[in-house]
Amino acid sequence: MMFRSFFFPLTSLLLFSGFAHGQNGSMQKQGLIDVQTVDPSMLVELKYSTTDNFVKQDVYGDLTRAYLQPMVAQKLRRASQWLQVRRPDLRLLIYDAARPQSAQWKLWNALPQYSEKQRRTYVADPREGSIHSYGCAVDLTLATADGRALDMGTPYDFFGPKAYPRQEAQMLKSGTLTKLQVANRRLLRQAMQAGGFMPIAYEWWHFNALSRKQARQQFKRVE
Ligand SMILES: [Zn+2]
Repeated sequence: MMFRSFFFPLTSLLLFSGFAHGQNGSMQKQGLIDVQTVDPSMLVELKYSTTDNFVKQDVYGDLTRAYLQPMVAQKLRRASQWLQVRRPDLRLLIYDAARPQSAQWKLWNALPQYSEKQRRTYVADPREGSIHSYGCAVDLTLATADGRALDMGTPYDFFGPKAYPRQEAQMLKSGTLTKLQVANRRLLRQAMQAGGFMPIAYEWWHFNALSRKQARQQFKRVE
């Protein structure tokens, strides 16, 4: 009887204190933070934890929550707050955040039909790692409060010029992208830049909090 009375309160304490198991727990042990604990208004749908992604495989398994380095999560909170002030009807919808090394290998190995050189245009070489591997990059879009993603002109992980921010002005002129699609992308970039993130030239959904060099110097790769 003593056994039970001792263990029951202990287990309930663990259950109710946000103790996470499996890969979610592993992320916490590595010092990463669940972004929704920093700002619960942000929406999360990790595409690599579903089969709705470019390799059509669930490569994240039980990792279902978005983790980032604490300072990166704070930047994301600032981006979200910037958006809330200007567009209270919209939310940040996160598709990917910190990416464990095991998942980077699964993504890499899911494209055996391509040479290693071709594969690098779709996914970072796991031996080098991506900025996601350090918990310093985030993939996201804008959505309505009930989770409907806004029209950005291409889906997430679309490979090709239509996803390139650097060709937007040209694509607007030629009618490849509509005014609304470009305006939606610009609003996402403005929010993220207000939070302290840097956009990249080839993916409208990807933002870095630090350069690859800074991320490597300051943080360990996420396992
Ligand atoms: Zn990314």
